[in-house]
Amino acid sequence: MLDSLAALTHHRDLDALDHSLVLTLAELTGARRVTLAKCFPEDSVLESVVCCSPDSRGAYHVHPLEPERLGAALGPVHRCLQDMQAQTETRNGLHRQLVPIVREGRAIGALQLDSALAPLRSRSLIDGFARIYANYTALLHESEHDKLTGLYNRRSLERQLQRMLQLRDRPLRPYPLAVPPAQEQRAAPAGEAAQVWLAIVDIDHFKHINDNFGHVYGDEVILLLAQQMRACFRRGDVLFRFGGEEFVALFSATDEVTVHGVLERFRAHVARFAFPLVGHVTVSIGYSRIGVHDYPAVALDRADQALYFVKQHGRDGVRGYEELGACGELGRGLAAGSIDLF
Ligand code: GH3
Ligand code: MG
Ligand code: MG
Repeated sequence: MLDSLAALTHHRDLDALDHSLVLTLAELTGARRVTLAKCFPEDSVLESVVCCSPDSRGAYHVHPLEPERLGAALGPVHRCLQDMQAQTETRNGLHRQLVPIVREGRAIGALQLDSALAPLRSRSLIDGFARIYANYTALLHESEHDKLTGLYNRRSLERQLQRMLQLRDRPLRPYPLAVPPAQEQRAAPAGEAAQVWLAIVDIDHFKHINDNFGHVYGDEVILLLAQQMRACFRRGDVLFRFGGEEFVALFSATDEVTVHGVLERFRAHVARFAFPLVGHVTVSIGYSRIGVHDYPAVALDRADQALYFVKQHGRDGVRGYEELGACGELGRGLAAGSIDLF
């Protein structure tokens, strides 16, 4: 058991940790199936499901499942999340136990064990693992997120980028946005891969805000901007506070016109938004496409070159590295951008 715990808390990667958790519980309890369902950070909609079950020779295998394809099969999980209480039921000779994973008073997910034998000591085992998982993921969460805004910090860019490149073909779920999107192709049509894009958002003349209103109001602008970003981007898009007043968004879309539309909508939304006391604030945005084999630093550098172009041409705008390259604008007096790459 101690070995299992040591192995579990060895992981720094959340996906590897999830796999290890379901596998460990399956091996310790001999369950037919162990499922871990996790919610998106902002609500109780399920983000991911991983499941561990034995093959015909009894060897356990872990496989991710898509929550939207499971439908009614997730009914017990939803009840458990809603009630925030452990539940047991026996149906067709199969014993099912559900335990919520509670962090800071909120159910962030649930563990479900289906066993052929009536569970004896497995309930306290699942409870214990759920608590350890909640505590350990709280630490991981803290190390990957920015304290002021709650967005990801720059340390987590590489890992999130890998994830995004792996998940880019998954269909996107509807999400209420602050500004309704125009017609946009975020999900790839069958047979066509969506591409991953990286955008850098930099607040214009932020020094003036600090100078005129003080750092506390400067921080408030950063916080409110992060909230507006959350409201304008979709669930599944990954948002970072990258430095002082610089933000990064990773998202997938099939074509550049859509990407430009998404970012332009956000830029216009910020320009309209009334920040308390400070009034109106604008942002400049540069973006670039990321290939599966691109290093994050390369994609950042390209987006930063596009951002630099916007800063040099009046700010409060959106430009893309590829689009600038196509119209021959890149390289013309374009110095290295402003972002620290390392
Ligand atoms: P530009 O339009 O060219 O981006 O102008 P800028 O004034 O925004 O320029 P720059 O990016 O060089 O300045 C960013 C300033 O942000 C510098 C620093 O004093 C301030 N800053 C950095 N981190 C924080 C923070 O956490 N809080 C506050 N209030 N200010 C910060
Ligand atoms: Mg800056
Ligand atoms: Mg700035």
